[in-house]
Amino acid sequence: MKVVIPHMGQLDIACRGALRGLGIEVVSPPRSSNVSLKLGARHSPELACLPFKVNLGNFIDALNDGTKMIMTAGGCGPCRFGYYSILQERILQDMGYRFEMVRADEPDRLANLAKTLKDASGAISKFTAYKTVYFIYKRADFLDRIIKWGHFLRPRTSEGNKLSKLCDDAIAMVDKASSLKELRQVKKKVKLLFKDIRIDNAKKPVRLGLVGEFFMVVEPFANMDIERKLGSMGVEVTRGVWLSDWINDRFRFNPFKRNQIKLVNRIARPYLKYPAGGESANTIARTIMFAKKGYDGVIHIRPFSCMPELVAQKILTKVEKDYNIPILTLSVDEHSSEVGFDTRLEAFVDMLVRKRDKRLA
Ligand code: SF4
Repeated sequence: MKVVIPHMGQLDIACRGALRGLGIEVVSPPRSSNVSLKLGARHSPELACLPFKVNLGNFIDALNDGTKMIMTAGGCGPCRFGYYSILQERILQDMGYRFEMVRADEPDRLANLAKTLKDASGAISKFTAYKTVYFIYKRADFLDRIIKWGHFLRPRTSEGNKLSKLCDDAIAMVDKASSLKELRQVKKKVKLLFKDIRIDNAKKPVRLGLVGEFFMVVEPFANMDIERKLGSMGVEVTRGVWLSDWINDRFRFNPFKRNQIKLVNRIARPYLKYPAGGESANTIARTIMFAKKGYDGVIHIRPFSCMPELVAQKILTKVEKDYNIPILTLSVDEHSSEVGFDTRLEAFVDMLVRKRDKRLA
């Protein structure tokens, strides 16, 4: 059974090796591009947010390539995400595509995720489904670690191209691992490979936190590859959201790791008593945490019409003053120009470097 999972950072790669064991072949749609985004945007409601349009473009590309099954998530809550998959399914049907959409309506519940896997694969036991979700978590956790190493090394090395290739190779190695045993072997190999990157100790990168809507932070196409760009400018980036944290907060596969949802809700409470959905509380709390840790600045990235991040953006102006931390908000949609985006990034980083140098002097 072939199933398509839309691009959202490394989600498709985290799922692919794990679902292989269930006889499900995860097909990644062609890489998101301006062409697929334009296609998605043309068939989307005008005020739908960017993730909706990017994913719709992915689905159209995949269906044109002959895919017959789409796997995605639904949900409920203040954010519109919950009904997006239903709307996407109708739009695609109206366009004349015939396919099946397998949807996890309550992705926060392990039983519902397991049921979604059972529906996609035919008859498998509950235990096998749970084991599969655990394996997805382990893969996502290591993929996140590879990205963290990249964030740390990029501003400290002059071997940027070698590092980019290494990160891509490491991700491809995880993609091929089909069992926990194979994943353990890949981890050992990848750790050794990263030791090969030479660090220049004279480089003192400025440190920047990256917060915002989940899809925008983790998906390089949506955020115009902001992490690599900042790394090449000599900035050490720390993400405020991680796929592995999202899974672990809900299913507690690693009980020793603090529940990030409870943590950020508590920290954001003085500014936002009731989370407004999406990553609103996370955005505020992480910004406060970055400020307390002495970060030089924070970049807040959000889709143009995203309600939760708009709420967070308003509150961030107060956090910026209270914690004396520079914040740059980047609002992105299908009309955003990469040149304008890069110019704002460069100006912000220049300002942070000057500020840091002045402080150190
Ligand atoms: S959090 Fe914002 S961008 Fe993400 S799905 Fe919800 S409304 Fe859209």
